[in-house]
Amino acid sequence: MDDVEGRLDAVRARIAAAEREAGRPAGSVALVAVSKTFGREHILPAIHAGQRVFGENRVQEAAQKWPVIRAEHPDIELHLIGPLQSNKAREAVALFDVIETVDRDKIAAELAKEIARQGRAPRLYVQVNTGLEPQKAGIDPREAVAFVARCRTVHGLAIDGLMCIPPADENPGPHFALLEKLAREAGVERLSMGMSGDFETAIAFGATSVRVGSAIFGTR
Ligand SMILES: *Cc1c(COP(=O)(O)O)cnc(C)c1O
Repeated sequence: MDDVEGRLDAVRARIAAAEREAGRPAGSVALVAVSKTFGREHILPAIHAGQRVFGENRVQEAAQKWPVIRAEHPDIELHLIGPLQSNKAREAVALFDVIETVDRDKIAAELAKEIARQGRAPRLYVQVNTGLEPQKAGIDPREAVAFVARCRTVHGLAIDGLMCIPPADENPGPHFALLEKLAREAGVERLSMGMSGDFETAIAFGATSVRVGSAIFGTR
């Protein structure tokens, strides 16, 4: 659909250049193509161009779009990057391969229950509200390390990464640096940070995956 493939190629080239610039190994940063609001006519060209990892921010929307596409392309990896309500934990565990937005004990407990019940364990990241924005999901950065520890010891969950969305009107660099520091303190390996407007900066600060929507699919 209007040149998704061309834009995907351009984003891949920019990721490769940012990896080189940062002195990081080629291929060390994964691209999560954020397909929220876009339908299969936009998603299929990306899949045909080799993209396999996609991000959605709403459980309901993902549940409508992805099972059909996945029946044809079983090797898709789907990430939940939007806020998770505890009454959606069952559906989220069934549908997603990575849930990037664990941010409170209630959700951690629900996820633990569903993982045990379904025998299916998505990889989990904790979302950190690095800008302390009241309208934004994510745990307070001052509580993040203790929360990761609680997810492990109290809830029995494996936590693989941290995720953040810096405030739109601020220089993202300090937020990425904070997330990287918290990940080291919490002993997690994966860092999900960087979107269309700032993914090169995020790669310089150690992102292991970037979540890119509009630069691939166009404006929403
Ligand atoms: C929409 C969204 C993105 C992608 O944003 P773009 O600016 O379109 O690249 C990344 N992360 C989250 C959490 C989002 O909701």
